[in-house]
Amino acid sequence: TLGLLWFRQDLRLSDHPALLAAAGEGSVVPLVVLEPGQLTDTRGPARRMLRSVAALHEATGGALLVRSGDPREVVPQAAAALGAQRVHISRDTTPGGRERDEHVADQLQTDGAELVTAGTPHAIGPGLVHTGEGTPYKVFTPFARAWREHGWPQPADHPSEDIWRRPDSAAVARIGEDALAAVLQAGAQDAVDGPAGERAALVRWRTFLEDHLSEYDAGRDRPDLDATSRMSIHLAHGEIHPRTMLADIAAHPAAGSDAAHRFVTELAWREFYADVLWHRPDSAWQDLRDALAALPYDEGPETDRLVEAWRQGRTGFPFVDAGMRQLAAEGFMHNRARMVVASFLTKDLHVWWPVGARHFLDHLLDGDLASNSHGWQWVAGTGTDASPYFRVFNPVTQGQRFDPDGAYVRRWVPELAHLGGKAAHTPWDHPDGYDHGYPERIVDHAQERRETLDRYESTREGG
Ligand code: FAD
Repeated sequence: TLGLLWFRQDLRLSDHPALLAAAGEGSVVPLVVLEPGQLTDTRGPARRMLRSVAALHEATGGALLVRSGDPREVVPQAAAALGAQRVHISRDTTPGGRERDEHVADQLQTDGAELVTAGTPHAIGPGLVHTGEGTPYKVFTPFARAWREHGWPQPADHPSEDIWRRPDSAAVARIGEDALAAVLQAGAQDAVDGPAGERAALVRWRTFLEDHLSEYDAGRDRPDLDATSRMSIHLAHGEIHPRTMLADIAAHPAAGSDAAHRFVTELAWREFYADVLWHRPDSAWQDLRDALAALPYDEGPETDRLVEAWRQGRTGFPFVDAGMRQLAAEGFMHNRARMVVASFLTKDLHVWWPVGARHFLDHLLDGDLASNSHGWQWVAGTGTDASPYFRVFNPVTQGQRFDPDGAYVRRWVPELAHLGGKAAHTPWDHPDGYDHGYPERIVDHAQERRETLDRYESTREGG
């Protein structure tokens, strides 16, 4: 018989339970369905995804069917055309993914076929780590402890080489619109973020393990250093499974070190946020905690102008601007900078966090709904943290502390490249600080910080 394997955010062949399940049927037709908008979207994240699909096409020896259309229609159509009784997927636990998959499952059932799920993009599937009473964890630290104690399965085996089936052309012609050419074209283009696909993910991962893991703990908070793994982009497309990474760390000579522990903790954050989103799908774009629902935010033309300055990296705060310009140039931003720019938007400009979260997802190559929305809510004070309303990052001292020599600022903000060392963080203190067109600060941080604290306090009193 034949299994249809519908790839989504699991664009790899190793450690892939759904692939193994499909292979159990004898032979497998691999399928990717792209929404028409994904093919025409010229922004970085959409292009990056096409490059990942192109790499998968190559890895399957050209067997991958790439179709354009609404998967709710194309997938059942493909199953019918190929005579596949079962369509195999890795579970997508995001709200939109769940809804789409339920729809496809219903349609397949109507047609006498079945949607079969195996595995998730997480070491432990969202919803499976819970308290003794069976309730979800609301706070990270106890979740991470329970997650470690739960343990995770070993990576899945690799299927035998010769599993791909190329359906006959009459069947292929009946399945949606062919989008392979667009994908191959995108795949052939050079990109700032380096090569895509499973092989590239493994190369990056092994390099990190060998050269950087042991210094991860010391360097991870420093955007001026190349100290983090940058595996988030590969994880976002499922080019590697976190279970593979966890198994490699466990087998690494540094396995028991603080650095390894810290890295595993960061992966646990990704799992935690996926778990929170699983239990509270509404928290993708709404405040997780109601306590701050009445908090007033700024809107209107003046705010729009400030938000635009933030988007362009022209706030006059060097560390914030470096982060935003890294995002624009690379489709990536260091975690410390993400926290500081998010704090700036929400607490210096008093803008509701979804505005920033949307901008991030439009530009981040590692865009992940759960990590993004909950990363934003962590900073905004509406998320999983118990009482962070009083935490307002100081955009200047954060820069001085985590970019001590100003190298990150100089790399991304050429107008400040002439200021040596820490001076890059405070152009206002230097006579030549504004000689090269760097903008003045758009707000007074001390004043906006007080304003934020006042707003929070009165909301709390009011609530
Ligand atoms: P490393 O330091 O090498 O960490 C290893 C892995 O652990 C990462 O690849 C990632 O999968 C996970 N991880 C690390 N930190 C976090 C974290 N705080 N939350 C969740 N997972 C984490 N991460 C995304 O993958 N996609 C997003 O869309 C995203 N949006 C964010 C938005 C905001 C406002 C903030 C504060 C954080 C966001 N993060 C997001 C988390 C984090 O910034 C990135 O995962 C990290 O910077 C990726 O770089 P890296 O792979 O080099 O990380």
